[in-house]
Amino acid sequence: MPDDDKGSAPTGKAVVAGGGLAGLAAAYRLADLGWRVTVLEKEPEAGGRCRTAGADGFLFDTGAQHCRDSYDATLKTAIELALGERFRVPIASKGLYRAAGVEPFVPRSARSVAQLPWRVLGARGLFEVPSAVMPLFRKYRSYNIRFPGWWTGGDLETADAFLDRRASRDYKSALAEPLALYAIGAELDRISAAGLMVATRVTFADRTVSFTTGMGSLAAALALKVDVETGTQVTGVLVEGGAAVGLKARPARGGRSRSYSAELVVCALPAPHVVGICGTLGSAARTAIEKARYSAAVVVNLAYARAAGGVAGPVMLPGSEGFQASWASSNASKADEHAPAGGSVVTVVFSGRRAEALLENDDGVLADLAVCEASRLYNLDGSRPVGLRVDRHHLGRPEVSPGHSARVRGLIEQGSGVANLLLAGDWTTSPTVEGAVSSGFAAAERAGAPG
Ligand SMILES: Cc1cc2nc3c(=O)[nH]c(=O)nc-3n(C[C@H](O)[C@H](O)[C@H](O)COP(=O)(O)OP(=O)(O)OC[C@H]3O[C@@H](n4cnc5c(N)ncnc54)[C@H](O)[C@@H]3O)c2cc1C
Repeated sequence: MPDDDKGSAPTGKAVVAGGGLAGLAAAYRLADLGWRVTVLEKEPEAGGRCRTAGADGFLFDTGAQHCRDSYDATLKTAIELALGERFRVPIASKGLYRAAGVEPFVPRSARSVAQLPWRVLGARGLFEVPSAVMPLFRKYRSYNIRFPGWWTGGDLETADAFLDRRASRDYKSALAEPLALYAIGAELDRISAAGLMVATRVTFADRTVSFTTGMGSLAAALALKVDVETGTQVTGVLVEGGAAVGLKARPARGGRSRSYSAELVVCALPAPHVVGICGTLGSAARTAIEKARYSAAVVVNLAYARAAGGVAGPVMLPGSEGFQASWASSNASKADEHAPAGGSVVTVVFSGRRAEALLENDDGVLADLAVCEASRLYNLDGSRPVGLRVDRHHLGRPEVSPGHSARVRGLIEQGSGVANLLLAGDWTTSPTVEGAVSSGFAAAERAGAPG
């Protein structure tokens, strides 16, 4: 039984399946609340889809590439873990590729009236500011579709159907589709209109943030704070009398199974992996899992001995312009520290159906394709990469499909349907670093709540 003093929150032994950001965040918060926690991770390293690999002085983010400055739980945790000095908020433009090349835009500039240095500019500013800001307003109007104030049905239909009634075909192919692939990793006919609205907001209003030591820094720092057993594959939840009492696992490379008994179990695995492991679940959890669809992603990191030049921030790449990749970014959008002095890292990301079609190609084919796309965007003068890394994600990002918000609400209200078993992971919230971290915290807080 949990150690449960009268009136205080229950604590005891907890075991977490999955050492991605969600599992690590749950473990970190549970430990704070007084639980003794073990995380079981099947890979040799924790971090899941948010890891950074190093090679010859270059840093390659193998999954997630950026956070945003609106990611409260992520950034607060990073500060707690003393990663504050490694934040990088680059003053870098994002970009959208159009016929003439990359069209840069600076997130949040159109809303900057309140942030402008009025005092410094003095009376002169009154004349200068409107002339500087008005062109941005005009530009942003052509990027943003207006969502009606009375609009509540965004969770019910696809973004594609929603835009059919409100936007031109050109708007869809030149902007909305690349934006959806960039911000949530799937096409317009796979995501809800509400999903597109969020994608639009975070792309145009938020600044991209990263860590000088790569996006994997957060997972790595969390993993140092909790007890993680890597190379351990969870095979099942142990249930007695309708309540979870532990996990069964075996070495990922083969060997004998063992049981990890615990008063609390957190399952922080991608939805398709939950099914076989958790067995019978409540109806809200079953529905959320059955409806969870993932779109694939392929990430190609290219290391160059020279600076990449061009737009520094992420550049969205429309298929209508002949791109197969969804977006690309150069290291300048994250941290110059991603490459040794004078060098650069260019990351090319393929997502959605384009990634699904490419998954089975070998690394050489994917690297050549990425080099080709990169050469259209950056000033590389035909130079070849001095190093590269290809990462394939069959389960790239859970799609924010119609009904997603309702399913997430159902999960929050009803939980897993099994006593002492909590679910976490980006599919239970939003397909982002922030979604994963906050889902882990939410699970821990539910477990720690008294009574
Ligand atoms: C290409 C790509 C780019 C992205 N870009 C961004 C971005 O720029 N910004 C952003 O916010 N988000 C981005 N994301 C999304 C973000 O990476 C994820 O939402 C987040 O990392 C998911 O964390 P998680 O803990 O829920 O899942 P995961 O990271 O998948 O963690 C699950 C863990 O469980 C382990 N596991 C699986 N089965 C077992 C088992 N049987 N036993 C033990 N362990 C097991 C896995 O190895 C993994 O470590 C991107 C994702 C991809 C794929």
